[in-house]
Amino acid sequence: MQMKNILEKFDLIGNQSGVSTGDWLTCRGEMLNSISPIDNQLIGNIRTANREDYEDVIQKAETAFTEWQMVPAPKRGEIVRQMGLALREYKAELGALVTLEMGKIKAEGEGEVQEMIDICDFAVGQSRMLYGLTMHSERPGHRMYEQWHPLGPVGVITAFNFPVAVWAWNAMIALIAGNTVIWKPSSKTPLTAIATMKIMESVLKKNKVPAGVLNLVIGNREQVGESMINDRRLPLISATGSVPMGRHIGQTVAARLGKTILELGGNNGIVVTPEADLDLVTRAILFGAIGTAGQRCTTTRRIIVEDKRFDELSERLIAAYKQVPIGNPLDDNILMGPLVDREAVQTMQKALERFKTEGGFPLYGGEVLTGGIYESGTYVTPCICAAKPGIPIVSEETFAPILYLIAYKGLDQAIEIHNQVPQGLSSAIFTQNLTEAESFLSHQGSDCGIANVNIGTSGAEIGGAFGGEKETGGGRES
Ligand code: NAD
Repeated sequence: MQMKNILEKFDLIGNQSGVSTGDWLTCRGEMLNSISPIDNQLIGNIRTANREDYEDVIQKAETAFTEWQMVPAPKRGEIVRQMGLALREYKAELGALVTLEMGKIKAEGEGEVQEMIDICDFAVGQSRMLYGLTMHSERPGHRMYEQWHPLGPVGVITAFNFPVAVWAWNAMIALIAGNTVIWKPSSKTPLTAIATMKIMESVLKKNKVPAGVLNLVIGNREQVGESMINDRRLPLISATGSVPMGRHIGQTVAARLGKTILELGGNNGIVVTPEADLDLVTRAILFGAIGTAGQRCTTTRRIIVEDKRFDELSERLIAAYKQVPIGNPLDDNILMGPLVDREAVQTMQKALERFKTEGGFPLYGGEVLTGGIYESGTYVTPCICAAKPGIPIVSEETFAPILYLIAYKGLDQAIEIHNQVPQGLSSAIFTQNLTEAESFLSHQGSDCGIANVNIGTSGAEIGGAFGGEKETGGGRES
């Protein structure tokens, strides 16, 4: 599918409004350009929202809430079911647009839309399962029961790397529960948000859902982001993004005693034990470390490998990394596309420089590619580094394909190294030894929200609570 066809499919040629309440509004904020990381070319112009536009939307969302909360939950579920059908219809095109605007390979773009479809199915089921407990009261002639009430309009703030799936995880559950939703997407991925909203609108209109139930507000942090997080009319803010963003949003929303769901950065490790199957390990690391060009929250960033297996594993990984086709993510045979922009490439370069000054040793890759499509300055070779425990930059999430290999002696030390970082999203152990696996999964083992055995750190499955501990924020979604 070519760029022009993708944009035409969603009528994205020409200036776009960045604000919808189910109807597109004329908005008054600055213009935003969407640039494709594939070739650094302009693919869209969006007029964003200012504070007044946000105010119009929140008022609509509040009014719509009074009506939407009274619609029976299974009927709300029926509308979400239709949203899932509409997404199935547009899966290839929306997936390709994710690729075009964000740079992940086509299979991953479509996989993201599949997650949207899956959460719709899950939410439809939930719409008939909003159960609460009933209890015998100690007071004669009384019974007690608990029930779930909607909160009101809820704010959903999303990151660039999962530009549509994470919104759906939040929005579909919020909708069946009777809430209205205001979505602020990343300014790096406005077109995917507009296209998603256009798909949703057809369903909203067909079912005569009032304007203000599902809302999109594209705008900058000052005008829209800060307005949302400081707004008492949004009792819940669900925010996905970096740790510094989450720290700020968490504090701001807590200051007004609002609720948050925070899904923040990860620094995900795999422990490779003496009995690990190295074929399995190599495949899992490759998928986890170079998938989405190292820009997943669950990207594998650290390998904690038993001392005696360090050399063999690093040789296998270097051989595998050399085979990875890097290029246009819209092409079927490509496994790694660009980073999201040149700034991300610079961040990666700076991190590698700092790593060397802190005593680390790069083993392979890390170059910025040039020539042909690479002239965009957004393509890099994925990097493998030999690190020692305690190197400061290894404790940080650099959102790029840098993989640190650290040797350990004894499982206790492996777990100590594993848990040394402040983030706590996803983790894995590769072993054939049941005791080692159980130790890793126990409360003495991995301190992450997600712990795996013999499978890598990436991936979320609808229905399994997804989220992390420590600085990852403690949220649970999907
Ligand atoms: P980011 O923190 O730069 O931005 C995330 C979102 O927060 C954007 O929409 C941004 O505009 C908004 N934002 C930033 N400051 C704000 C403020 N003051 N008020 C309101 N909104 C504000 O993150 P990014 O670069 O887009 O995404 C990458 C990061 O997201 C990585 O750290 C990654 O690990 C994390 N992430 C986490 C998960 C998860 O589920 N744990 C999923 C995806 C991404």
